[in-house]
Amino acid sequence: MTAREVAVIGLGSSGLASTRLLRRQGHDVYVSDAGQGAALEERAAVARSLGATVELGRHDLERIRQAARVIASPGVPPDAEPLVVARSHGVPIASEVELGLSALPNARVIAITGTNGKTTVTALVEHLLRALGRDAAAVGNIGTPVCEVALRDAPPGWLALEISSFQLHDTPSLQPTVGVLTNLSPDHLDRYPSVEAYYADKALLFQHDRPGAHWVTNADDSASQRMCAELAGQVSTFSIAGRLGDAFLDRAHRMLVVRDAPLLERDRLPLLGGHNVANALAATLAVMVADPAHESDEARARLAEALTTFRPPAHRLEVVGEFDGITWINDSKATNVASARVALEAMSRPTILLLGGRHKGEPYSSLLPLITQHCQRVLVYGEASDEIMGDLGGRGAPVERVLGDFGAVMRRARAVAEPGWAVLLSPACSSYDMFNNYQERGAAFARAARGDAP
Ligand code: ADP
Repeated sequence: MTAREVAVIGLGSSGLASTRLLRRQGHDVYVSDAGQGAALEERAAVARSLGATVELGRHDLERIRQAARVIASPGVPPDAEPLVVARSHGVPIASEVELGLSALPNARVIAITGTNGKTTVTALVEHLLRALGRDAAAVGNIGTPVCEVALRDAPPGWLALEISSFQLHDTPSLQPTVGVLTNLSPDHLDRYPSVEAYYADKALLFQHDRPGAHWVTNADDSASQRMCAELAGQVSTFSIAGRLGDAFLDRAHRMLVVRDAPLLERDRLPLLGGHNVANALAATLAVMVADPAHESDEARARLAEALTTFRPPAHRLEVVGEFDGITWINDSKATNVASARVALEAMSRPTILLLGGRHKGEPYSSLLPLITQHCQRVLVYGEASDEIMGDLGGRGAPVERVLGDFGAVMRRARAVAEPGWAVLLSPACSSYDMFNNYQERGAAFARAARGDAP
């Protein structure tokens, strides 16, 4: 323990990237993670070889309290004990994003937050910037830590940064070239004391708002509009509900219109669901307002072309395949009610919906009209079954509780689905009752859909 020691909380890939960057900058590093297991052991060995002190299975709160600074990994909520201790002893806390960006002073950043659509918009922004010949990387929550990019010999000039509410909480110098707020709805009520507290962290995207700043937000979402009403910077808006704002879907002509001119026919955008049209409009608008050069006729043509070649990130309304006439759709990333709602809206076939997992605090009743409209059956499973049955049962919805593991849910889906139907995993819950993460849940769904051995 030295006076210069920095404590890194969490040893995921971003904790390791933070450690690497801090060591290169000459800091002593203490990194701790409450978890244990093979993957952590592997990262711990790497961190030790870099000269860091590593502890797994616990956090040494005494040591953290004396650190010069604390770096919080993305999954660590602001009320986690090590962060509470650090805060109460006046130790400055920074997110991994803050640390990484401070080592990338020349990068132009398009920062993306919101309740849903962050990863999709971030991937789209990276794809569009590259189509314009920009050297761009997608970083942050999407998977690549900012620190990892900061360590490159030739870091990219542009960053598409996905940033969550937890990370915003501890990224005080974030001043993006463009900030995008996709939408706001209640989420993470298991980890925040109230919706207001969650929205307050989201509002930190705008903490350095000033005349000349650029913001992109959702004209269809009243909560987002309220948050942006008083901003001094230039606010550009997108809409799929009406011919509103700077980018919208012209429903009569099935056309995406951006900045007063048609850009692309809806049917050439290879993404399911109206919400993905919103995501495409948000990303295009953000890239255009980021630099005047991105608005020339040639740039517009390249952007339109690039939208036609974008593939959705995995586990987001991903069509696994059609087997025996049944389409299997993996939307495992739909871990809140709003995202399950947009998935149901995108369904054009009679649907069997798989709904369940670990409850996050929101009621499910707002799904009822869409269930009535699209679903032949809703298979309810997992820890949240009581809450879901309580909200949806006895109200005319075709709900059925499935006991047992996820394999039992999939067997039941196969037994009741008929040719011409879709089976949709859009669970509105987190996966942690049965899986380590949503990716494992999605992979289990895809394997069972294909009939592969579990
Ligand atoms: P995030 O990174 O914010 O979790 P993703 O792009 O990973 O968002 O999408 C997660 C899920 O949220 C998708 O599977 C889809 O069901 C839903 N979703 C995506 N975009 C939107 C949107 N613009 N509005 C509402 N729901 C969306």
